[in-house]
Amino acid sequence: MVNEHKVSDVNKNIEMVLEIQDLKKHYLLRAGMLSKKKRYVYAADGITFSINACETLGLVGESGCGKSTVGKTILRLIDPTDGIIKFRSVDITNLSRFELRKYRREMQFVFQDPYFSVNPRMSIGSIVGEPLENYKLARGQKKDDIVEATLNRVGLSSEHMEKYPHQMSGGQLQRVGIARALILNPKFIICDEVVSALDVSVQAQVLNLLMDLQEEYRLSYLFITHDLAVVEHISHRIAVMYLGKIVELTDRETLFVTPQHPYTQALLSAAPIPDPTARKERTLLLGDVPSPVNPPKGCRFNTRCQYSEQRCRVQEPKLRETAPGHLVACHLHEAS
Ligand code: SF4
Repeated sequence: MVNEHKVSDVNKNIEMVLEIQDLKKHYLLRAGMLSKKKRYVYAADGITFSINACETLGLVGESGCGKSTVGKTILRLIDPTDGIIKFRSVDITNLSRFELRKYRREMQFVFQDPYFSVNPRMSIGSIVGEPLENYKLARGQKKDDIVEATLNRVGLSSEHMEKYPHQMSGGQLQRVGIARALILNPKFIICDEVVSALDVSVQAQVLNLLMDLQEEYRLSYLFITHDLAVVEHISHRIAVMYLGKIVELTDRETLFVTPQHPYTQALLSAAPIPDPTARKERTLLLGDVPSPVNPPKGCRFNTRCQYSEQRCRVQEPKLRETAPGHLVACHLHEAS
């Protein structure tokens, strides 16, 4: 027996920090001069998941699948087309910018490229301390003391306060981004490709820092990345996205050992493995990624799936629980 859109009750006593239900973000395309028909980019199209206290949910998929749109929509950096966003049980979907302000303090974002996410004309001390001033929490020496303590916590020192972004390395600047997110004492942080611009050795340092901070501050993360090795390192559970939809969601071990969706299987089989003598079965990805303006009917993966059959081209598979806590959107798994 399978349950539609219903996660197992095994974690029902755990504090839920974020819950999104059927979240959609459709962008209207500018119509051509002669066109009367409206066209949309279906960037996120019915996303449902939750994140518990002190948990990291990895959101993984190819470039352009809509994962960054999901992150920005959750923080209301862009407004959703439809769906519900709940933060600590409060529905924040339609709050005004003013009403949202007190919740935004507890929900922070760390961006992909550290060089473009900071103001190059501001000193590091000003960049990290700015949120304290914006929320009128501290000024002057008190602010400087908090900034220094926060920089120390992310592996930087008071000497960095007087420096400017161009005087910092990529890894140091990403620590600055983390310090700026951390300084308001948030409960939830969205990390969007935060290590993809860094060298591999620096990536590990930043990931380990984020994991240490999670334990210390009981943080919850939505960790957005295209990199399977990164998502495996840091996540407790992982959601796999394809063309605006979640196709599989489960805990890290289950996803990497027994993936069920053909797209997840293809992603994992294409990932490099450390042992060159080890062999693994390849699951082929056919063709190119279709356009999110005109996604395939039925299952969106049907144009690239080696198991595609007639019903896949007409009927969209729902995300269903096939085992406790394991959700899959594929007709092959509907009868289990
Ligand atoms: Fe492939 Fe059909 Fe499953 Fe989609 S529903 S992943 S096309 S088998």
